This record gives sequence, C-alpha cells and structure tokens, in this order.
Amino acid sequence: MQFAAITGLDDIKQTLISAVQRNHVAHAQLFFSKEGSGNLALALAYATYLNCENPSETDSCGVCPSCSRMNKLMHPDLHFVFPTAATKDYKRDEAMSALFLKEWRSFLQKSPYANLQDWGLALGLEENKQCLIPVHEGREIIKTLSMRAFGEKYKIMIIWLAELMNVNAANAILKILEEPPEKTIFLLVSNSLDKMLPTILSRTQIIVIRQFHDEEIRDYLQTQHNLSADKAAQIAVLADGSLGEAIRLSQEVQDDSQAFFEDWMRYCYQMDFTKMLQGVDKFSDMSKEAQKGVLHYALTVIREAMVLKMGSPLLVRLDEKTLQFVQKFSQTVIRENNVEKFLQYFNEAIGHIERNASAKILFLDLSLKIAYVLRTK
Ligand SMILES: [Zn+2]
Repeated sequence: MQFAAITGLDDIKQTLISAVQRNHVAHAQLFFSKEGSGNLALALAYATYLNCENPSETDSCGVCPSCSRMNKLMHPDLHFVFPTAATKDYKRDEAMSALFLKEWRSFLQKSPYANLQDWGLALGLEENKQCLIPVHEGREIIKTLSMRAFGEKYKIMIIWLAELMNVNAANAILKILEEPPEKTIFLLVSNSLDKMLPTILSRTQIIVIRQFHDEEIRDYLQTQHNLSADKAAQIAVLADGSLGEAIRLSQEVQDDSQAFFEDWMRYCYQMDFTKMLQGVDKFSDMSKEAQKGVLHYALTVIREAMVLKMGSPLLVRLDEKTLQFVQKFSQTVIRENNVEKFLQYFNEAIGHIERNASAKILFLDLSLKIAYVLRTK
C-alpha cells in the first residue's frame, strides 16, 4: 500500500516520511487512532516506504521488487501478528497469526479500515469476543525476529490491535521491544491506549492519528465507491470520522441501489407494465438522494460492462457481487449500438431530478425508453 492510496492525512504522512529522510526512525512505534481510521493503512504505507528501493519525497515508488511484494503483502521481511481465536480447524492453544495469513491478506486487500468484527467474520466466527493475541504468539514473535532479514533494509513486525495482547504475551516481548535486533522495526497498531500495558507504551513512540475529515471521506467515497457528491456528503457526516463506518454505510446504499436496479432492468426487458407501475411508486417514494443513487449505480454498471465488453477485465474495479451482475449484464444487454443511449438517458434523468422534475413522470418515461432500447436488437 502506498501513501497515495490513503485519502488525506497529509500532515501525518509528511511527519512519517521526514523521520525516514532524517534517519530518525524509532524502532518501536505505536500507531494510535480510533476504530475505522487510518492507523493500519498508514502502518502499511509506512512499511512500504521504509523498504522501498527508490522512495521519493512523498511516497514509495510502487514498482520496485520490494514495493510489489509489499503490495501483495508477501514481502519476506514483513511480518504480521493479529488477534485470532479458536476456529473450526484450530483449537485456542493452536490458533496463531501464521495459520491465517491467507485470510488476513484478503481481509487487508479488501479494506485496511475494517474492524475486529469484520475480521471475526473473515475468520468464520459468529462473534469476536474471544479474539486475542495469545501467549504463544509472544514466543513466535521472538523466534521470527531472531532470524536474519531477507533484504538489505528493514525487518518489520506489524501488530494489529496490540491492545488485545494477552498480558503474558506482552511481557514476553518487552525485552525485544526495547532492544530489537538490528534493523528491526515494530509497528504496533492500536485503537485503545487505555487497554495497553504501561510497560509497552513506555517502550514505544506513540503516533496519534486523527480521525478523517468529512471532506477526506467524501472524496474517498466519490472516487472509490462511485457515490454521488450528495450521497457521499451525507454518509461522511454519519460516519463521524471513521472511514471504516463510511465504507459500511456506502455498501448498504449500494446494495439497495443494486437490488432496485436489477429488478428494474428485468421488468423493463419483460415489458411488464404492472411491475413498471409498481416501480414508479417505489421510485417516487425514495428520497431524492436514493433516486440519484440508483441512477449513479446504473451509470457505473453500464460503464464497467462496456469495459468488460472491450476485453479489459483488469480495469474493472468492482466488488465480487456487483462484478457478477455486471458480467451478466455485459453479455446479455450491452451492445455497441445501445451504450450511448443508456448513458444519455441515465445522465439526463439525474439532471432532471436535480431540477426537481416529477419523479413519477420521469421514472415512467425513463422505464419505457429503457424497455425500448433493451428490446431493440
Ligand atoms: Zn519501491
């Protein structure tokens, strides 16, 4: 992960980078922020920067062998410890981070702003109460760090939710935290300083990371989740500085839009007028924001379906569920001669909603136009 992938927080990024440039990298740092904020993402970007072979004044290069391994979270000098629990495959006294790296990587690739509850779900747990960093993990940390580094630069140990370290595990690493082997860096990531042992706190440099500003969250939702400016602004307020929460909320908005859109296209294609009229009522009952949400979602589907059609699947940036729908849509509905029409109709409709057109008339008119395009070969 590069710094550029993290929305805003420029002040903190600059502090971290200048410490590297001045050669003042503390060997044990604690990235503290509230849940859903940037501490884990920053720790990843910082680790990538520390080991980059060609860092600039603002970011890692993103392309050197070290960066590309870091991006896949498979760098041999990057180690992770995180809370685990007994699962269907492992008992509590067996479970440890090394056994769940596959799940961990895909969890992080999805979002470095997720919380312990999300991680519990990724582990297949029904609840995450029992998630912690057990005592045997402390011994494992010492073992891992006593081995030689693979590359020229730093060996980095990221401990996520360090406050969930069992007391004996924490005590076990005190000595190595204070005097780590050469070129070893601890990046502890925590959402709760109150729950950290004072003996750990006193051995780390604490970096307090502020919550995201509303405009940072807004930018992120608009560029990464294709939300309209209004919807993004609305969610940013509700999320109250937590990007993790904002992503969850935007997912709900998308789910609603997706279900409505899929249904809509189906009855338009079938020329089912009864359902079309029910759709008119449903649509006019939605808030203006939700109406625009559906139409923005429609535009995203059309654009991405076109990209798929042109054979560039790598350029498609969608979650799994949306991707399945878009694939179907691009195969059965999208043709070179109708893409323009779809885009034009949906864009016009957004403009009309903004100018307070009657939702009922607009939606019925739009549905009939769509039905006609869908059925024209
Ligand atoms: Zn690099």
